[in-house]
Amino acid sequence: MSRTFVGWPAFPRAAAAATQDMQLRSNVTRATGTIRGKRAKLVTERPDWEDLRDSAAALKDEVLAHLDRYLLQAEEQVTAAGGTVHWARDAAEANRIVTELVRATGEREIVKVKSMLTEEIGLDNALEAAGISARETDLAAAIVQLGDDLPSHVVVPALHRNRGEIRDVFVREMGRHGRPAPQGLTDEPAQLAEAARLHLREKFLKAKVAVSGANFLVAETGTVVVVESEGNGRMCLTLADTLISVVGLEKAVPTWRDLEVFLQLLARNATGERMAPYTTTFTGVTPGDGPQRFHLVLVDNGRTRALADRVGRQALRCIRCGACMNICPVYERTGGHAYGSVYPGPIGAILNPLLKGPDDPQTASLPYASSLCGACNEVCPVRIRFTDVLLKLRHEVAEGDAKVKHPVEKAALDAVGAVMEHPAAWNAAVRAAGRVGPLMPRKRLPGPLRGWTDTRNVPEIPKESFRTWWKRTDGGTK
Ligand code: SF4
Repeated sequence: MSRTFVGWPAFPRAAAAATQDMQLRSNVTRATGTIRGKRAKLVTERPDWEDLRDSAAALKDEVLAHLDRYLLQAEEQVTAAGGTVHWARDAAEANRIVTELVRATGEREIVKVKSMLTEEIGLDNALEAAGISARETDLAAAIVQLGDDLPSHVVVPALHRNRGEIRDVFVREMGRHGRPAPQGLTDEPAQLAEAARLHLREKFLKAKVAVSGANFLVAETGTVVVVESEGNGRMCLTLADTLISVVGLEKAVPTWRDLEVFLQLLARNATGERMAPYTTTFTGVTPGDGPQRFHLVLVDNGRTRALADRVGRQALRCIRCGACMNICPVYERTGGHAYGSVYPGPIGAILNPLLKGPDDPQTASLPYASSLCGACNEVCPVRIRFTDVLLKLRHEVAEGDAKVKHPVEKAALDAVGAVMEHPAAWNAAVRAAGRVGPLMPRKRLPGPLRGWTDTRNVPEIPKESFRTWWKRTDGGTK
């Protein structure tokens, strides 16, 4: 079975371990720094960059407000073009549909092109349980799969690996899954790319069934759009007899004209390129050209739950460019695995709890995986206000199910809330704090408060409050 994030520790534990891994931190810092620099240069070339961001946010909001209409329009168009549309409420249903579709072809090995959604729903393991092997063909996703690893970034899933580590994975694993790595393979990028090309080419030419994700779904024509850098996606979308595209409900865009806005934003913001090297569009079935059977599986898996959240629904605007993780100081120190999801970084900190609900023990702490510096707000091409959503989700955790918070913390916060509501009580508490302040331990607080001082200094409590000082000195004049 492939590794998944199921059972992964919650962020505080996973991050504590990840921050100790100096190799990981160095790999992530180097990679995110490079992409950040390229992006910053490229976006300044566009005088209309901020207008494009406004348009993209407005278009996504329009789709989310009328999702039913656009999805039904897409279904009608796909069907008219000879494809079949399937609707999946959750991961189990999506996996069952895809597994049955592959089974019906009689194939035992299929190819996949990078789809975070299929990672989210655990499709590889569902297929494996049915005796079907799914091989990743996006280079970074293939590195992750060959290394029995997990993705750590939405655009560069193997960002946490350096060239030497990738070489070792190729030499060790390629031969077990097909064509082995060439003799004497070094960690030169050109050599690594050639080794991957030879290994994957064999898979493309053999596979009769391909599973893809999609960056966008154009509702007016039912067209699946895949944006990528290597051309492997195009091979998947065109060479197989049967194509199964597994797509989240939120990927719809109304028209081709609207798609243009997103295509201008995506590559610049994701990888610092003026345009993506390969943008492949696919509509239904064309006799004698490309896959002769096309299935579109539209997956909810928590998206309608997120849509119901008036503040949080903006997370569904995300076009997975990865810029928010490239700029995030928390992500830079922990890497992506600590988030326990295929969606790491700032978008993961809001999207995962929105998809799973506030009571999920693995994702409940994610809204706290942020310094609230707001750097992500500034780079998001669809203007997601991360800080608004993070604060809203933190509020839900604080007010929510007692299982996800410590009872002592709740009692302490309730007591502080009660005191703050009454000025006389508050002033008395401040005076008392000034008197006991010198007795406080300087390094670590005792008992259940110790956790708070694991990562913080104990603040020095002033002998008198500002108000008392103001009164005593007549505003600093005495
Ligand atoms: S949330 Fe915004 S910045 Fe982050 S991956 Fe999505 S579109 Fe990109």
